[in-house]
Amino acid sequence: MRLISQPEGAVFIMFSHPRLMKIVDQLSGQSPRSVTIALGELFPLNEEQLRSQWEELASGTSLTQTRLTIRLIRAQQQCMTCLEKYHPSNGEIRCPHCGGAGAKILAGEELYVESTEARDE
Ligand SMILES: [Zn+2]
Repeated sequence: MRLISQPEGAVFIMFSHPRLMKIVDQLSGQSPRSVTIALGELFPLNEEQLRSQWEELASGTSLTQTRLTIRLIRAQQQCMTCLEKYHPSNGEIRCPHCGGAGAKILAGEELYVESTEARDE
């Protein structure tokens, strides 16, 4: 039996996010006991994806034993028409107050190390 060959593009490859790669790279020099990473709601990775990429990147490094905590940052936008601040829900970008489409993102695109806890020596 032969399998029908898949078109090349169908091969699924998961790329690690460059910002996360940089974080892992910086942390591997410290090998902390635990780390808290702040993740914005609008960041292209969700919590689960971030965790699985972390595990992939950390494997084989000094971070294998590091406990990862993810703190989600709620998205906030400000309407450029009425200047009201609001939480964009379900990908809705229109202002719930005036229906304006132009908004500035105030929070939600973050990915950074919030804190680390050093290993007891
Ligand atoms: Zn508005």
